[in-house]
Amino acid sequence: MSDANILLVDDEQPFVETMTKRLEKRNYKVNAAFSGYDAIKILEKESQVEVVILDVKMPGKDGIGVLQEIKQKYPLIEVIMLTGHATVESAIQGMKLGAYDYLMKPCDMNELVAKVDEATGKKRAHEEKIVEARMKRITGTRI
Ligand SMILES: [Mg+2]
Repeated sequence: MSDANILLVDDEQPFVETMTKRLEKRNYKVNAAFSGYDAIKILEKESQVEVVILDVKMPGKDGIGVLQEIKQKYPLIEVIMLTGHATVESAIQGMKLGAYDYLMKPCDMNELVAKVDEATGKKRAHEEKIVEARMKRITGTRI
């Protein structure tokens, strides 16, 4: 599932640039944002995003604020929180608010890619179910 469409959000610009390169090498489509506000702006324009990799600690709109907005406006998008040791509590709060999972920074590339693939699979299966439910409603098929 390395065709997943990702939005990577982190205020550490070199981190975002490095991760973007690494993910693109593996054929993921990557959108990058350096703040929570940028992330929301990108989501408004880029409707194909499937998974958001979201830093917890950012100046301005932090990861929890962005997560809440994503879950409210785009409930099917899956979110993976990125956290440091000092912000694990926020990541746990994020999970309660609907984040798919979290990763500790510095994150292992293989672990990140595995979680992105799982999250993408979950989102696609979820969307398929919605399509099926609509079809059943249209065709009147009993479950
Ligand atoms: Mg940060």
